[in-house]
This record gives sequence, C-alpha cells and structure tokens, in this order.
Amino acid sequence: MFTGRRYRRPIFSTKINMAKRDYYEILKVTRTASATEIKKAYRRLAMKHHPDRNRDDAGAEAKFKEAKEAYEVLKDGDKRAAYDRFGHDGVRGGAAGGGFSGEGFGDVFGEVFGDIFGGGRRGRSQVFRGADLGYELKLDLEKAVSGDSITIEVPTRVTCDECAGSGSEKGSEPVTCTTCGGVGQVRMQQGFFSIQQTCPACKGNGTVINNQCHKCNGRGRVSKNKKLAVKIPAGVDGGDRIRLAGEGEAGRNGGPPGDLYVEIRVRPHKIFRRDGTDLSCEVPISFATAALGGEVELPTLDGTVSLKVPAGTQSEKVFRLRGKGVTTVRDKRRGDLFARLAVETPINLTEEQIALLGQFEASVSVGGERHNPRAGGWLDTVKRFFDRIS
Ligand SMILES: [Zn+2]
Ligand SMILES: [Zn+2]
Repeated sequence: MFTGRRYRRPIFSTKINMAKRDYYEILKVTRTASATEIKKAYRRLAMKHHPDRNRDDAGAEAKFKEAKEAYEVLKDGDKRAAYDRFGHDGVRGGAAGGGFSGEGFGDVFGEVFGDIFGGGRRGRSQVFRGADLGYELKLDLEKAVSGDSITIEVPTRVTCDECAGSGSEKGSEPVTCTTCGGVGQVRMQQGFFSIQQTCPACKGNGTVINNQCHKCNGRGRVSKNKKLAVKIPAGVDGGDRIRLAGEGEAGRNGGPPGDLYVEIRVRPHKIFRRDGTDLSCEVPISFATAALGGEVELPTLDGTVSLKVPAGTQSEKVFRLRGKGVTTVRDKRRGDLFARLAVETPINLTEEQIALLGQFEASVSVGGERHNPRAGGWLDTVKRFFDRIS
C-alpha cells in the first residue's frame, strides 16, 4: 500500500551509507563557535569548493554540499541544539546522507553571499531534490524470515520524457527570466533596506517557459506508476525500512531524485508469534497426555518436530527448542522456539465419559494432594487467609 509518508533514517539501506562527518569538524570550528564564526567558516569553504571554480574536480562539489549541509544545521539555533544533543539523528530531514529534500540548493548560498556570486549564478536555475516516498509492504512471516524478491508498483512522478524535464515543447527552450535576469531573486528597496526576494515572475527558477510541453504542461515531471523490483533481505521484521536510493520522485530542474522507503509490515501468523529472533507458539494437549506423558507434534518453520512430554506435565509449561527461532537482518544467529503447552479441558462428553470421569475424580480425591499438588497447596493458602481475617 502506498502511504506517501516521508520517512526518517532507514535502518539499513541498499546503498552503504558513508559515515557522516561531524558538522563542526566539516566547518573546522569549535563546538562553542559563535554564529559569526560559523558563517565565516562556511563562507571560506564554500568559496574554496564552489563547483563554478572547480569544474574539473568532482570531489569539490561533494565538499561544497557537505559544508552547505553543516552550515544549514549550525546556523539555525534550534537545529544546532538538536544536533548537539542527538547528533545527525537529531536533525535528519527526509534525506539520508543527502541534502534536505524539497529545498533549493541555492538558498543558503545566496543568503550568505548575496550578490558576490550574482554574476556567476546568472542563468542557472534553482534545482530541487525530488520528494522521498514511502511504501508499506505486507509480508507473511515465512517470506519475512526467508527473504524474497517482490515487484511493487509505486505512484510517483518521473521526469517527462517528451521534454527531458525542461518543461518546454520540443524545439524550444526555457528562456532566462527578464524580471530577475535569471538569478531567481529580486531586490526590493524598502527604506534603508534592500530586501532580497524570490522572483515572482519565475518563482525562483531563473527561467520561464513560453512554449509549454504538451505532455507535462510545463512541469517537467509526469505522474507514473513505476514498477520496481525490491529485494527483501532474509530476516526483515515489522518496522524495518529498505531504502531504494534515487527511486523517489524525480527532482525538478535537474535536481536529484528522492529516495523510496519500503516499510515492512508482517501479517499475524496463525501459529507463531515473533519477538526478534525468537518464536513462540501455544500447543494444546489433552489432559490425559499431560498426565500420562507422550509425544506431541510441534510445528516449526522448518517442519514438524516431535516433543516428548513427560508424565505429570502441568498446563502453561514452556518448552524451549534451541535454534528453532529465526534470524533478523542484524542478528544472524537463529533464536529459539518457545512452545507453551495448554492442557485442554474435554468438552461435549458422552454419558459414558461422564461416568468414567466421575469414577476417576472419586479415586484421585482419596489421594488428595498427592495427585493434585497445586490444588492442595492452594486450599491450604485459602484456609490460612480466612483464619487470619476471621
Ligand atoms: Zn514535458
Ligand atoms: Zn525571475
């Protein structure tokens, strides 16, 4: 089922997440650095690694983005406080290890530099990362335990193939916005202040589309049900999330796509309950078997096994079968199976059975506590209880 929800960090991922560096370390400032120091540090790094100045160095862009991400968190008092307390988990947006979804890449940069790079940014439109998507996948316990390959269908937005995402009809191109000159922002004079605002004509894109693509109506993206093969690792459990990097909605203006998070739900099983690597089940046995002892067939995920029930077994007795549990994604050791016996009271008795049970009851009552250890002890306790209150 498609939920459309945005997700927090996945527990595991189809791509290996690189360890994230400390934001203070990235900006080379101390943890007590003032807002001005942080801004200065970011300005220095952004200048150094700006993609426009390092066209031949692929690593520069990554460093530029890393610095930007660090600055975005540390410049904000609330986010910085959350980061100080909880680390990266405290400030994670929809994106795992990426930018912040839905935000333009230019915003923070423009905020710090104002006009410095104004010329350089001319004609470059703002790009937006696509939204992350959530998908809830229901599995039977057996499939969750063994792993599976499943094809899912996700309603998403993909880059329009007619215009390759430009939004312009074939043969035409988006033109530079005349209002802002392609910068995507305009300056307004208000008294002594000059305020920078998102350009109302192009909504910050820097370009306008005069001849809209007929397929996407100029949006550059179209709705599509995308079919995806998902590999379910063995041992997944309810609440586990699988990240499919880049399989979320397409970005805008050439921005990167979001991620798709497949959240696992496990349907209740008719026999077993699961608790991490352990399984448990209830096994009804007749009171005669419990009294006389015998063998019962016990279900496991690998087939049935035979369990020896000793004579005189009481109801609720739990038998532990080592190694008959399951594994999880994180824990590859198989857990145990806990089988709880439930001694069943016979019902729908015939005249003959009633007579037999009557005889039986009469014969055991002679022996009293010897045959019914719990009842004997319990009656003593009840007697002492009433002696005390009377
Ligand atoms: Zn189009
Ligand atoms: Zn504009």
